[in-house]
Amino acid sequence: MTAISVENLTQSFGRRTVLDRICFDVAAGQFFIIIGPNGSGKTTLLKLLTGLLSAQDGDITVMGRCLKDYNPRALAQQVAYVPQNVLVEFPFSVTEVVLMGRAPHLGMLGVETPEDLELAQEAMMITDIIHLADRRLDELSGGERQRVLIARAICQRPRILLLDEPTSALDLAHQARIMDLMETLKNDHGITVVMISHELNLAAMYADQVLVLSRGQIACMGAPDQVLNKELLERVYECNLMVDMSSVGNYPRVHLVPKRFLR
Ligand code: ADP
Repeated sequence: MTAISVENLTQSFGRRTVLDRICFDVAAGQFFIIIGPNGSGKTTLLKLLTGLLSAQDGDITVMGRCLKDYNPRALAQQVAYVPQNVLVEFPFSVTEVVLMGRAPHLGMLGVETPEDLELAQEAMMITDIIHLADRRLDELSGGERQRVLIARAICQRPRILLLDEPTSALDLAHQARIMDLMETLKNDHGITVVMISHELNLAAMYADQVLVLSRGQIACMGAPDQVLNKELLERVYECNLMVDMSSVGNYPRVHLVPKRFLR
């Protein structure tokens, strides 16, 4: 089954075309990682998939249904979004923020049940923020806040998780924990994970499919060992790289080559 289908998606801001007739499918239960240089259109693409931004042209289908035909509650039952950063305007506690994930599932009165609280606790445990439960979001470090947003999305119990650079502020142990968690959600619960990442080596180890965006177009899409090759990455990122095979599993591993090593 196809979780997300994108056809001829085009988005411009003013006269600048940021996404140019993009077409791709994400199969249900895949770990799908989007990479590409700054400004290539990754966040715009993810925002279009969440429905936060409406597409100027083209079609997006989510779980077999046109994105435009979903009401916000029905869409939030299918899709959870972890943005790159959130403005914290109110001093919500971590528990309150994580519980917001339950909003699309609450009854008419909008009151959380003991089961909702249990799901929030579980989401906080697996993202290692249970010790922060009563702290205010605006007092946390960037990495802690990032884990709170991931917990909120998990608490939402979606079929599809869309994450915009969710590991960018995380230390190595928490990066591994979040990537392993996404893999478990995929393997044990069939959840489709679509993630933007600049961590090419994490993409190599975890992704089923890698999509490379370059200047608003798809430069390449395929399994990590097909996509993460020196020629393509050097062309897209415009820098010098070396790609070898990792001794942990048999994955491509990408290294930057500093200028002083170039002849
Ligand atoms: P990426 O996530 O790959 O870094 P973005 O999707 O954030 O790229 O941005 C792609 C391009 O679109 C950038 O040049 C950015 O400045 C521009 N852009 C994004 N959002 C807006 C907006 N709301 N208004 C005008 N330009 C925008």
